[in-house]
Amino acid sequence: MHVVMHALVELQKIEFGPDPESSFSKAEAEKLRAQVPQQVLGHYDRLRSRGKKGLALVRENNVCAECHMGIPIGTVITIMKGEDIQLCGSCGRYLYVEDKPPVTAAPATTRVESPAKSKRGRKPKKKPEEGAA
Ligand SMILES: [Zn+2]
Repeated sequence: MHVVMHALVELQKIEFGPDPESSFSKAEAEKLRAQVPQQVLGHYDRLRSRGKKGLALVRENNVCAECHMGIPIGTVITIMKGEDIQLCGSCGRYLYVEDKPPVTAAPATTRVESPAKSKRGRKPKKKPEEGAA
């Protein structure tokens, strides 16, 4: 995830969390805000002042979780790669994807087809040397 988006996600968790007014939350929010460019923060705060979340999750079928509009695949890829931050073209929220480990569902069938099996190279059996007596 892009470093700015990561900071925004954490910031939103705090500011839309259960206790945004605590001194701990405010200190954390301050640290995160320092990582976000002023212009981006300004947009985030404008949405927040209207009681809206400034961020929207990209769902699996590439739709914005907040406005349910489709997001161009190129935009999704940019977000996934963490190359840049992107806005939803419909609701104007910053888009983010959940950080997931890339391999979660391994196929149940573990059929290992090794090419070495077909070529059965016969190795001469070595007898342990017995005539050492
Ligand atoms: Zn949207």
